[in-house]
Amino acid sequence: MSQLALSTDLINFDTLPAASQSKPSKLAYLDNRVTKSQRGTKRTRSQRARERLQTKEHLIGLARELHEGELADKLDRCHSRLSVLTCGRHIARIIPNFTCEFRLCPDCGRRRSRKLQTKYLPLMKAFMLHNKVTPVHLVLTQTHRKESRKESVARIRNSFTKLTRRSFWKQYFKGGTWSLEFTKDKNGLHHTHLHIVGFRRKFFDIELLRDEWLAVTGDSHVLHLKPILDLAAGLQEVVKYVSKPLDIRRFGAADLKEFLGLKNMRMFGTFGEFRDFCKDFEPSDNDAAAVGELESLARDLVEGCACPQCNEPLFDLRMSGKELPQFYEQTESSPPRKVGTSWN
Ligand SMILES: [Zn+2]
Ligand SMILES: [Zn+2]
Repeated sequence: MSQLALSTDLINFDTLPAASQSKPSKLAYLDNRVTKSQRGTKRTRSQRARERLQTKEHLIGLARELHEGELADKLDRCHSRLSVLTCGRHIARIIPNFTCEFRLCPDCGRRRSRKLQTKYLPLMKAFMLHNKVTPVHLVLTQTHRKESRKESVARIRNSFTKLTRRSFWKQYFKGGTWSLEFTKDKNGLHHTHLHIVGFRRKFFDIELLRDEWLAVTGDSHVLHLKPILDLAAGLQEVVKYVSKPLDIRRFGAADLKEFLGLKNMRMFGTFGEFRDFCKDFEPSDNDAAAVGELESLARDLVEGCACPQCNEPLFDLRMSGKELPQFYEQTESSPPRKVGTSWN
């Protein structure tokens, strides 16, 4: 998915004529801008790896411009040497020499969002087992004002906190997770969205939720809601904003400077009963399925292990970060092999 296309599309979210927003058909939601832009620009792993390198180069340039030498050096070192566990056709695991953990680093963001998925997917499954709830993906938006990014984020988070305290919300939702997405349009206005995986207790009229959102924001009623049919895919859609909350390639030095001032801003969190559940959860036998998944997701692959995709033994290939896109290209051009065939 192109970050450029995503943010350009999202910018128009709240500026659609009111008539087209008031009663979206089921189809209209499924055809929502986020999904459409992702689908239309499906890229290969090698293309994505190449884009990550470009994004990083761009960030390093901006950091140098701001005389943030330490940050630039850290970004430069991050994922510069890789140990790649591969069967030759598939890449099972990539272990970097160093991770900078900078919030906008595309490589570290990818790791972070994968960690979140590994942690929260089993918890979500267990939560659904313990409670009669179904997951939905809710996108909350707000009107654009002339304000800083910090103010924009604070505004939407405050509105959301107010929403979760209302009786309507408590009646229909049993908690969930949130993550932030922000973009900036060509007029310099910040567009901040909250992506929520919400656990819904029962159906409700979407118009009522719009009214509630309008009541807490004072001027925004634009939101989107769709049921999540595949929990893993739904969670992935939400946590991807943790790895790319915005289009960094359109970032200028001033944007980076502003972002550096937001040091402690959280990009992901849990709320409501799901939050308490995550703190206290001790798996019982009934949760075996969910926890089993956790173990398999977190399983550490080492050299000599069978490739999860074709069972061929994995070996450790050392390369520089810059060589990764080309290696992906090689794996993409070799024909796929079915699981198990190599041992029989
Ligand atoms: Zn990094
Ligand atoms: Zn393989």
